[in-house]
Amino acid sequence: MTDRYAVIGNPVAHSRSPSIHARFARQTGQDIEYGRLLAPLDGFVEAVERFRDAGGRGLNVTLPFKLEAFAWAARRSARAQAAGAVNTLRFDAGAAYGDNTDGAGLVRDIEARLGLPLAGRSVLILGAGGATRGVLAPLLDAGVARLTIANRTPARAIALVDGFLRAASASPPAGAPGGSAPAGARLRGCGFDDAGQGFDLVVNATSAGLAGERLPIADALLAGAVLAYDMFYAARETAFVAQALAAGCPRACDGLGMLVEQAAESFLVWRGVRPLTAPVYEALRAELAAEAA
Ligand code: NAP
Repeated sequence: MTDRYAVIGNPVAHSRSPSIHARFARQTGQDIEYGRLLAPLDGFVEAVERFRDAGGRGLNVTLPFKLEAFAWAARRSARAQAAGAVNTLRFDAGAAYGDNTDGAGLVRDIEARLGLPLAGRSVLILGAGGATRGVLAPLLDAGVARLTIANRTPARAIALVDGFLRAASASPPAGAPGGSAPAGARLRGCGFDDAGQGFDLVVNATSAGLAGERLPIADALLAGAVLAYDMFYAARETAFVAQALAAGCPRACDGLGMLVEQAAESFLVWRGVRPLTAPVYEALRAELAAEAA
């Protein structure tokens, strides 16, 4: 029998997840169907339970429901616990399992596709919203030496770091692998103006890309990095990629690879099989380019 999955959100019509998971299913020979589920803003839990009760096996969760999914899941992975948010639900017999694959997706895209090992690197993340919260533990687990969160509203970056460290000290594991300094010694929250310098990797996790806005950060921060990574993705060059290259950064890319990698990680959670991501990334990139032409 065909197993049913979907992405739930509001809005959800723009989601590329059905196209990604259809490709994964074809590639791995898994018999699944994957759709879109638009839930009313005040009706997330009802929509999830209806889908599950009708035989659905799992859901990807997108904006604005990741916190509600976290609260609803009966069991959660350590990385979902560290993120305080769930983007993957699996309906196990008896209890729903919640996971968060966003951070693993970012780390895998940078290390495997882009070939940049993260251990020992200095990383600057711009933005202190949900996406940043989701990637902190996976980046620390990858062994980064320094992780600075700079935000337009500095207090939010500082609060994010404080909250993360409080949660990590209450339930350790999600922190450093053997050999790395404790998370508290590597993590710092601040404003754009006092981020410091000497970063190998600069990640844009703000939502400024939606409006095509330039970020108010010094060119030197980007010029000195080996990679500028924009979590936002688009058919054309994103504003942050353009800003980074113009500032002298030798390499910049958008977040399409993270999207594909987080989806592959969800597929693994549901089906126990990890699909190959490179051909799916290439197909999606071509699809986007064709739409832009
Ligand atoms: P969010 O929770 O709404 O956070 C938005 C962040 O952007 C806040 O830190 C906000 O700063 C900052 N910001 C907004 N407009 C800004 C501007 N004009 N200048 C400077 N900073 C600005 O959003 P999110 O869920 O974290 O998502 C952030 C981005 O990541 C989005 O573009 C999303 O599409 C992307 N994302 C991509 C993937 C992927 O798989 N590729 C996965 C997750 C998210 P203040 O605190 O000062 O308001």
